[in-house]
Amino acid sequence: MKREDYLQWAERAARWGANYLATLRDRPVRAQTVPGEIAAMLPAEPPEEPEDMQTIFADFERIVPDGMTHWQHPRFFAYFSANAAPVSMIAENLTAVMAAQCMLWQTSPAATEIETRMVDWMRQALGLPEGFQGVIQDSATTANVCAMLTMRERALGWRGNDSGMAGEKQLRVYASPETHSSIDKAVRIAGIGQQHLVKVPTDGSWALDPGALRQAIAADKAAGFLPAGVVLCVGGTSIGVSDRVRETIEVARAYDLFVHVDAAWAGSAMICPELRELWEGVEGADSIVFNPHKWLGAQFDCSIQFLADPEPQVRTLGIRPDYLQTLGQSEITNYSEWTIPLGRRFRALKLWFLLRAHGLEDLRRRIRNHIAWAEEAAAGIAALDGFRLTTKCHFSLFTFQYAPDGEDANVATERLLQAINDDGRIYLTQTTHEGQFVIRFQVGQFDCRRDDVLLAVEVLRELAAPLG
Ligand code: PLP
Repeated sequence: MKREDYLQWAERAARWGANYLATLRDRPVRAQTVPGEIAAMLPAEPPEEPEDMQTIFADFERIVPDGMTHWQHPRFFAYFSANAAPVSMIAENLTAVMAAQCMLWQTSPAATEIETRMVDWMRQALGLPEGFQGVIQDSATTANVCAMLTMRERALGWRGNDSGMAGEKQLRVYASPETHSSIDKAVRIAGIGQQHLVKVPTDGSWALDPGALRQAIAADKAAGFLPAGVVLCVGGTSIGVSDRVRETIEVARAYDLFVHVDAAWAGSAMICPELRELWEGVEGADSIVFNPHKWLGAQFDCSIQFLADPEPQVRTLGIRPDYLQTLGQSEITNYSEWTIPLGRRFRALKLWFLLRAHGLEDLRRRIRNHIAWAEEAAAGIAALDGFRLTTKCHFSLFTFQYAPDGEDANVATERLLQAINDDGRIYLTQTTHEGQFVIRFQVGQFDCRRDDVLLAVEVLRELAAPLG
């Protein structure tokens, strides 16, 4: 395809996209394909000669949409939503066309300066104090790894980057068992080792117990370990619980440990002032991550890592070889020095479009609706024959089991989940909570309406009847 053909095909793609979005409710949410089915439709060898766009586009329409799980479907209640407000899709199109590498200020000054401003808009929107700066990462996993590496280097006085970790005291990092698996990945990548991520016992509400944390750190110090930092979760992935942020940070501070807060999903909800009590004290953290690409509506990928002081992270990750110098501008912000990859996309543009096109008040309204509808769905499901809630609503996430009389609840719940996702009108996924197989129900899709949520309760009633 030539540059001159861009308009024709962009228009065709836009028309396809508009129709896709308008008819999403008629599709099954989860792909109804079997493994290998899509691959079998593709030639095994790459083409030697150019193919025309008509054929390529026709194959796209024939093969791809039915092989997709539709994340923008209003009845997507699985995992956490990865919302893409239509306005953020438009911004992503523009980003794709400019296709810039935004690694340094001078490689795309607008990208850097809009990023700085968007991070600050979000800081204000979340109620974080002035002084927090930040960077837009691709994902919370990357932010967690960056925070872990910074934690490690700060504890080692930046000797690890220089001479490695041999001969150093063994580092220890502390987190609740409710933190995301990307924290486990981060300790592995950082060379700290999985067994040195101490999963601290939780209290009766599955929040990390600050007293138990104090004991664990003291015991580790006495045993010759080097405690490096604490990772807190706000809105944990499995059942949505949050740690007691202020109290836990006080313990970490008493031992001069670095604190990183993972609020990848629930951070978006903090645009609602009435929810901020759930991370009360967060301003004491060194690093906080939240994903506007989850609940807020900025198309994937868009994850903001706030830093109380960027210097330790830039010192850990920044490298400025001669070929990356910006001549005469040594004090300029180069965001690639705040993160792992050198090359970076222009992610701030979609946030700029999103925040302006919706305004915070509209985004708050959606999140408040999601929480209210999740409460309503939880009550509706609890009232169905054979169903029981296993965890209450945390933000807009709750879990339940299907336990008809005389049946093993884990087996019956798994069977029901299969039936739900084969049916396709809604999409739900599972987790394990206290040894039980439970179904997670998360309300957070950008275009979800109350009747979508109520329909989900009806679907459960209908599908459970023949199983019970
Ligand atoms: N942290 C939490 C609490 C999450 O829920 C998730 C994903 O759901 C992640 C981290 C990983 O997010 P990402 O896909 O942006 O790496």
